[in-house]
Amino acid sequence: MRIQDASAFFLASRAHSSLLCIFAFLTAGSNSLVHAQSPVVIVERLENGLSQVSSQHLKLVTDLPVTPEIADLCKMFDQAMLQWGEEFQVPRNAWIDGQANACLIVDRQRFAELQYITPDVPPFREGYQLQDRLFMLEQPSAYYRRHLLLHEGTHWFLWRFLGGNGPPWFSEGMCEMMATHQWSEQSGSLNMNWIPTDRESAPMWGRFKMIRDAMASGTAPSLERILQYSDTAHRTDEPYAWSWAAMIFFSRNSRYRDVLYENFLPNLRSHVGSEHKLTLDFKDRLDKQWPSIQAEWTAYVNDLDYGFSPEHSLPAIDLNVLKPSSVQNEVAIESNRGWQSSGIRLEQGDRVSITASGRVVVREASPHPWESEPQGISIQYYQGFPLGKLIAVVVPIDAPEQESSNTVRLVPFAIGKKHEWTSNQSGVLLLKINEPSSQLFDNAGEFTVLVAPVTSR
Ligand SMILES: [Zn+2]
Repeated sequence: MRIQDASAFFLASRAHSSLLCIFAFLTAGSNSLVHAQSPVVIVERLENGLSQVSSQHLKLVTDLPVTPEIADLCKMFDQAMLQWGEEFQVPRNAWIDGQANACLIVDRQRFAELQYITPDVPPFREGYQLQDRLFMLEQPSAYYRRHLLLHEGTHWFLWRFLGGNGPPWFSEGMCEMMATHQWSEQSGSLNMNWIPTDRESAPMWGRFKMIRDAMASGTAPSLERILQYSDTAHRTDEPYAWSWAAMIFFSRNSRYRDVLYENFLPNLRSHVGSEHKLTLDFKDRLDKQWPSIQAEWTAYVNDLDYGFSPEHSLPAIDLNVLKPSSVQNEVAIESNRGWQSSGIRLEQGDRVSITASGRVVVREASPHPWESEPQGISIQYYQGFPLGKLIAVVVPIDAPEQESSNTVRLVPFAIGKKHEWTSNQSGVLLLKINEPSSQLFDNAGEFTVLVAPVTSR
């Protein structure tokens, strides 16, 4: 261990406290995760009996024993500053002197008596940010403890360096998106804005389960309702999950990201007190695409699961170019993408036939890649269908003036090489090959699909 920064030692020895230790963290090699410059973390015992851990950008007071896991929170926070700066386009010189004060709390009463939780702090459920102060109740998993600090830290960064947090869906969605992370204990490196690959990688996060349960019970809100969340909506966990899902949808989509960020980030400060206006302006700018966005949202939410890849699975559906099912349409369905438009709009009672041909790679395996034709390969199944099989759904289309109802659960059905059927609902016909979003990255090739009307039987 090496003391990196003599001034850090000076600051600590000046305080009315006993210096316990200084951790100097060195970065270990290079990998894909972002490293900070060897931050120094100081651990002290305060006269009031609490412990304080501090680094360049965070001072954290706690009634917990300071284990390496707790000390790592400071190291992590310093790295988060770089990633917030990058995501929110705040230049380094604007945030370099920023430092937040956090309390990590087991005994809430004690923090109130010691005047850390002052009367201006409203009762909070798990975490709260008030100006430069962050409050967090101790969490049962190390993942969720870090998550909560990154969540409150994101609120703080937005408030401190962009002047505000925006409307509830934006604020909580952004904080949840940035806080969902990967942390390597070994190298001490942080990767924010991550989509968990499995339950074990984010214990207690549980957003996918909440979304799936709501879909199953028919209570999943429409995108409109999420964007209209009130200031008191986030008193239960579900609105956090939906705000997160909406933020991933807009910010990870190359067609909407700029509209989102141009509308919100530069205007947060000027809209303190009129935050909902930002959402109205944002929706106005997307007005022409909005029916398509609703269809994309429905397809997207139905696909959300661990390992979801926005790059491969955010759908692009243009309702303005759909043909009626009375004309035939040929489309290429790419094997490395999620739901794709067939280009056909079905009305209830329309009878169509779909024929598919071609050969795609569904897994790069040795010694031979797994290849599939439209009927799929029956050595592996996903959601009840063979891997690689061509499958379809019909996504209802809302009338433009219609306030859309809940987000519906889609029921995929098999197409294979040929399928002829009468649609029992109206909407846009979507197609894809059957494989989880997390596994699409190594696919190659496309199926050629012909959708044609069936006039006589
Ligand atoms: Zn929050």
